[in-house]
Amino acid sequence: MPQTRKHGEIMSRLERLCVEKGLKMTEQRRIIARVLSEASDHPDVEQVYHRATAADPHISLATVYRTVRLLEEANILARHDFGDGRARYEEAERDHHDHMIDVRTRKVIEFQNGEIEELQRRIARELGYELLGHRLELYGIPLAESKAATGSKKAKNGRS
Ligand SMILES: [Zn+2]
Repeated sequence: MPQTRKHGEIMSRLERLCVEKGLKMTEQRRIIARVLSEASDHPDVEQVYHRATAADPHISLATVYRTVRLLEEANILARHDFGDGRARYEEAERDHHDHMIDVRTRKVIEFQNGEIEELQRRIARELGYELLGHRLELYGIPLAESKAATGSKKAKNGRS
């Protein structure tokens, strides 16, 4: 990876946010911010670490942990828990979306649904609140696999 540090180099989106929020940006933090900026998935700290060390092998896991925590505290990163006990991260200021998690492959699909959004606002209103935000994670297995499982159960029941 070319490490050009010339004046006028394009900053990654997250790095720019860090600078705007007054965070001191070391070279290693810049790399970590870039890795997170380029991520289209929801990497955990170890995944960020592996990607960051591809650019600079001297970056330590501890540095990645500290940087990710710093960015989370600055509301630059959002932390998610998708049910496997690992904290996962993505940019905080992306358009709102919810997550569907495949519990077998851990694949994460992002989605938006206007009805769900409206329903949640209505529930909050009925409870006397203005909704400021929510988190929604759906967990499932692919329908094809689910049907296969049900089918084999039926077959088994049929035999007995
Ligand atoms: Zn997401």
